[in-house]
Parts: sequence; C-alpha cells; structure tokens
Amino acid sequence: MSLTYERYEFRKLLKELKKKKGRGTELISLYMPPGKNVYDVIKYLRDESDQASNIKDKLTRKNVQSAIESIIQKLKLYRSVPGNGLVIFCGAIPQGRDRGTEKIEIYVIEPPEPVRSFQYICNHEFYLEPLEDMIREKKAYGLIVMDRGGGVIAILRGSNYKVIRWVSSDIPPKHSAGGQSQRRFERIREERVHDFFKRLGIRANEVLLPIENELEGILIGGPGDAREKFEEGNFLDYRLQRKIIASIPLSYTEEQGIRELIMKAEDLLKESSLYKERSLVEEVFRLLVKESGRVAYGIKEVENALISGSAEKILVLEDIPVKKVKIKCIQCGYEEQKVIRKDREMSLSGWKCPKCGGTVYELEEIDIIEYLGELGSQTGAELFVISPGTEWGAQLKALGGVAAVLRYEMRE
Ligand SMILES: [Zn+2]
Repeated sequence: MSLTYERYEFRKLLKELKKKKGRGTELISLYMPPGKNVYDVIKYLRDESDQASNIKDKLTRKNVQSAIESIIQKLKLYRSVPGNGLVIFCGAIPQGRDRGTEKIEIYVIEPPEPVRSFQYICNHEFYLEPLEDMIREKKAYGLIVMDRGGGVIAILRGSNYKVIRWVSSDIPPKHSAGGQSQRRFERIREERVHDFFKRLGIRANEVLLPIENELEGILIGGPGDAREKFEEGNFLDYRLQRKIIASIPLSYTEEQGIRELIMKAEDLLKESSLYKERSLVEEVFRLLVKESGRVAYGIKEVENALISGSAEKILVLEDIPVKKVKIKCIQCGYEEQKVIRKDREMSLSGWKCPKCGGTVYELEEIDIIEYLGELGSQTGAELFVISPGTEWGAQLKALGGVAAVLRYEMRE
C-alpha cells in the first residue's frame, strides 16, 4: 500500500483498536489465514466457550462467552474465509469507569495482505502486530555511509530513515609514520583498513540480511575512495552485494552523510514515497510561483475546490492542525459545520444558535482527512497523506496543512 487514503483509513482503525482496553483478559483477537475452514473455527470457538465456563469471576465469564458468541454469529455469515483471510476483534469494552458498563464491540477486518497463521488470543488488549506489519512501508533501502574513519548503517523505509549501527575504525591517518619505518606503517595501516571493512561488512550483514527480501537496493556513499574499495572487496554478503545500486561520493560522513546520500540518490529513490511526497509538495510550491491560479490551500479553499470538482490532487498533512466539527442545536435542530484549530477547542464555548438562540448543542467530530478523501473519491481527486516531521511536511503546514492542485482545464 502506498501513502493513500485507504492506507490512512486502515492505520486509523488500528490506532483506534489499540486504544481499547478490556478488564482482565476479556478481549479476543482471531486471525484466520486464507483457506481456513470456517466450520472448524466455529467448532474451535465452541470449545473455547466451554473452557471459559471455568472462569471464576462471573462477569468476566459472561463477557468472554458473549464475545465468543458474537464472533460465531459473524462467522456464520461466511461460507469461506475471504482471499486474504479474516481477522476479528471482539470483546467487552468498558464504556465508563464502573464495572458492568462494558459493551461487546466487534470488528471484522479483511486484511490487505494474507494472514499467515491461525491465532486465537485472549488478552486485556487486542493483538494487532500482524496487521501493523502489513501497513508498514515494505520497500526498504539499505544505506551505508563510510570513509576510513568509520561507517554508519541505516535503513530507509518510506519517508523515514533510521540509523541502526555505527562502526568505528582505529586507522591512523596517512603519512604520520612517527618513529616507525614508512613501509611497516603502511602495512599496519592496510591491515587495519581491511579489518575495519570486514567489521563494517559483518555489521551491515547483521542489519540488512534479515530484511533482504524487503530491500529494493543498497546505496553506499562517502568521501574519498573508501566506499569503492569496500565495494570492490566484496565485504558484504553476496546476497547484499548484488543489491548495491549506487556508490555516491559525498562531502559528509555520519548521519549528515546519510541525509546527503538520500538527497543525492533522488533519481534512484523515485519510487519511494519519500520522493513522491516531496515532489508533490514541490509541485504545489512551483505552481504557487508560476501559476498561482492552479493551487488552492487552506481547508476552506480546498473544500470548495473539491466540491466544484476542480481539484485534481489533494495533499494533506497527516497531523493537520485543524479539525471539523458538526454542531447541532438541541432545541431546534439547526446544524452547522465549523473548522477549528485542534489547539483551540475552547473557541466553541459561548456558541449560540443563530436560529433560536439556544446554547445547548451536540458536537460531532469529523475526521478531516476522511472527509476530504470521500469528497475526493466523489469528484475524482486523488488524496495524498503527507508525513509530518519532514521538511516538506513543514512546508505544507505553512499552507494550513492542506493544499490542492487544480485541474489544468479549469484555468481561465
Ligand atoms: Zn436552535
């Protein structure tokens, strides 16, 4: 999955499920791989329900058994497990502070990737790891930045890189022979370089081999010729060696070198969402300068562009600092929608119904990204969620966290 609306939605659901906590071990997570026989699962659940009758605490017993029963009822709607398998979360979730306020909630999910194995887990929270793994950006790049003074190994996944290992060297600088003979000094130095390359290779193997099948490529960078010698010397495992897609000269080492490598390897990383996100934001700013009529930004403008069907692409910051609320007057039913800044929720206090003057209202929060995504799918605009905490995320934030590129035809 890419940085699309669907991915955002799925991630949001997982976040919500993560917040749910049961009392005791009352929450059930059920993973069914493709091909699993539904009737076998129902039978398994009936056994579990029988087992649960041994639970001493009356309320816990009741909650677990009702949850299992709810799952069985859902499963009866399926003749077979769907293509990627099926995942069900069910349990008694407290709705208030007191014991006894629990309500059975059930979530049935057809996952975006195949479920690997059958699992039935009872715990105080839902077991979400296999689903979280599915939405992790799969494409990864191994990054090695080095010179003779040391090396760093990082992994770039989606828009984020993470430095995993630092490897230091103890190679004396060239031409500082001191009291030793020049030849002896050179030999020792060469040995130490070789030793350092070897250690760097071993560390890189440790970091990158476990994710070898996710690796799109390995990029090596650094000042001087050390990176070339390292590559030529086959210090990496052969499976990684053949994944080297570039060796790029850099001015910096360490983490700064990693950032420089990512910048310089732009063309090679075109496919990664890092590049996509940045080029989308860049496009907006380029247009703002050249053809400002083709850009709308800020929530109101973008909303209008979407409603009129003139928006082609929508860029929205994942943590957009505003939210949309629907206010409904309890007295006369008058409704209005408002966009408010997340840090100024109090701005609603003192609201007065313009129709009847009532001050008691109901509030419904509307997820802005979801709302824009739906508007977009109705009018054929593509929505991209941009990662916060990036340079381009900050640029988009300066535009209110949301911008639209308008269709070319609409320009007068
Ligand atoms: Zn009213």
